[in-house]
Amino acid sequence: MKLAYVFVEHPIHHLDHTFTYCADGYTLTRGMRVQVPFGSKTIVGFVEKVEDISDEEVRRFPYTLKPIISQIDQFPLLNEELYELGNWMAQRYIAPKISCFQCMLPSKLKPSSTHGSIRMEAWVRICKQNDTKLTAKQQSAYEDLQKEKEMLRSVFYEKWKIPGKKLIALGLVEVFEKEKKAILENIEKNKEEEFILQEDQKKVIAQVEQEKHHRVFLLHGVTGSGKTEVFLRLASKEIEKGKQVLLLVPEISLTPQMVKRVKQRFGAHVAIYHSGLNAQEKYEQYQLVKEHKVQIVVGTRSAVFMPFDRLGLIVMDEEHDTSYKQDSTPRYHCRDIAIYRGKYHDAKVLLASATPSLESYARAHKGVYALLQMPHRINGNFPSVRIVEMRKSVAKGESYLLSDALLDAIYDRLQKKEQVILLLNRRGYTPILRCISCGYVQMCPHCDVAMSYHKEEKVLKCHTCGYSMNVPTHCPNCHEASWRYLGLGTQKLEEFVQIKFPDARILRMDADTTTRKHAHENLLKSFDEGHADILLGTQMIAKGLDIEKVTLVGIVNGDALLNRSDYRSAEMTYDLLEQASGRSGRGEYKGEVIIQAYDPNHYAIQCAAHHDYLSFFQQEMQYRHLTGYPPYRYLVSMVFSSKNNQDIQQSAEAAMRILSKKENCKILGPAQLHKIRDEERCRILLKGKDEQLLIHYVKDVYDKHLQTKQKARLDIDLSPYMLD
Ligand code: ADP
Ligand code: ZN
Repeated sequence: MKLAYVFVEHPIHHLDHTFTYCADGYTLTRGMRVQVPFGSKTIVGFVEKVEDISDEEVRRFPYTLKPIISQIDQFPLLNEELYELGNWMAQRYIAPKISCFQCMLPSKLKPSSTHGSIRMEAWVRICKQNDTKLTAKQQSAYEDLQKEKEMLRSVFYEKWKIPGKKLIALGLVEVFEKEKKAILENIEKNKEEEFILQEDQKKVIAQVEQEKHHRVFLLHGVTGSGKTEVFLRLASKEIEKGKQVLLLVPEISLTPQMVKRVKQRFGAHVAIYHSGLNAQEKYEQYQLVKEHKVQIVVGTRSAVFMPFDRLGLIVMDEEHDTSYKQDSTPRYHCRDIAIYRGKYHDAKVLLASATPSLESYARAHKGVYALLQMPHRINGNFPSVRIVEMRKSVAKGESYLLSDALLDAIYDRLQKKEQVILLLNRRGYTPILRCISCGYVQMCPHCDVAMSYHKEEKVLKCHTCGYSMNVPTHCPNCHEASWRYLGLGTQKLEEFVQIKFPDARILRMDADTTTRKHAHENLLKSFDEGHADILLGTQMIAKGLDIEKVTLVGIVNGDALLNRSDYRSAEMTYDLLEQASGRSGRGEYKGEVIIQAYDPNHYAIQCAAHHDYLSFFQQEMQYRHLTGYPPYRYLVSMVFSSKNNQDIQQSAEAAMRILSKKENCKILGPAQLHKIRDEERCRILLKGKDEQLLIHYVKDVYDKHLQTKQKARLDIDLSPYMLD
């Protein structure tokens, strides 16, 4: 009898092993999907292994083997490389294997019984030689189709509705179904975009070219140093060699210019893959790569799993960006996966940023990655930076929103018809509702965080779970009707700026104005085309914009992030300031940046003001060294959650009993976290120098957690990003 070992779809931890089925009559290999009976249901699974056993052995089986119901794929959906990658991820991130396979595939291909079906289209083709007498029109339709061989039925009908239908009725033409495919736009390649390379660019390209095998490079190139051009040149060399190229970006909608430049250079043969696509569009892009219709993919995090089979180069632009980390199981980092695949394909991996993550820069510093530098701006000048000390300006009676210095600078740009970007660091501040008689703050009843006030809809919303409520008329605590809206939101800032500059055309970009599809692109396009004077928004406007006429960037609350209790807060502050100031003065006009801050002497702010990454790196490394945080130590977080606090206590205590016996690691916690969606949470953090050892310890906790059927949920996060 032939046996198939199958991973089934339920990503529930105790199902993280294969189930065995009889596969007689099927030709199966690893990575194919099959339908199998499971309990009373039919579900989809992945074949892990196929094996022949003797009748003797079948008889010794403790239960009767159920047969497979059907085979879904004729070819493995996951090739050997991706299958191995899934295994590696499951082990590294301590996640169920099936969840790793699932996260690699567009949802239409996910091994789930509920996935939407693949969309089909009706086509027509000739199925019988013509032996009857046709009308002139019918004859023309027939010949047209003969010439084209196949046509979309809709196209055929558009041209030949009546004669076309007749040909089908006569049995000369048949209708058949084909999978719907992405239509490649016909874009004219625009060779003129190719510049004469600058010295820095030439040097970096030569350094990468020199390396013939897999190597990880870190390109530290200041904002506006021409990194994109380097990516495009390197990509085109790989494509000439018949290789594939993957260009990873943090968020497509925020980097429309990148997509535009890649398309201009490579014409239509580009796949674009990001979360804004619907399931069908994703599937179509996926197939383009699989069928070798495109050689280059521009995409966000999940594009790292595209079915490449001859990768030559992976570029990861803005490699420091937090969106490269997935925040649900499996909690992978895109950089890890990119390097894994680079090794497999003997391809080069180019990480690039103006503000590299501390981890990557430290690795480059040690020679693990090859460090490449582009310290000069193409236009030769950096924006000058002014820091406004808010404590002083507010004490002088100036507005706490915008200081006189920033207001004057805005006025000046409006006069000169230049453009302004105003950035509000929203993560640090949100408009909250506080009672001024008793100090009560309206909290989310499910999450223990303050509710944010949304003025347009006049409701309170929780930014953690999405719960929304009307503003209570009276304070539930003291029953006074004396609410006050505290803090500073983008809407409030917009109103304020509009009052100060009634004629200015303002665009606001934040989570509320960008919910609709293409909203980002449209806003940015409109600003780029000069339909507004001021673009105002949250961190999303700090990324990747290259707009010639922007000569002033104002950062309204530059140090808001520093107030967070997170070991990365200085790094995030530096990144934000440097990236945001990188948007100013990119063209021929000189740029200026004004940073408003309450703590202007903090090194993150001082270093950003002097565009001095190296100095920031050194100071921040000292701090990380002293406190024992990454990159000096590795971290693994274990979060236990449940609606019942006792379940959590029990699980955490069990984990502590296991961990307290382990050596060469430090245990932080258990710490009570604020609740989310009605669930209490508690975290244990493991810290140590040996990453593999930590993973090993946590796996031990995880296995025992499952074995003892603990009621609390355990979420594991290797190198967690946020610790608050
Ligand atoms: P970065 O990604 O490093 O911030 P970009 O790649 O966006 O910088 O380049 C900044 C600007 O310089 C862009 O407008 C780009 O078109 C232009 N540019 C790039 N390389 C050259 C070059 N060799 N000569 C002239 N202009 C260039
Ligand atoms: Zn909530």
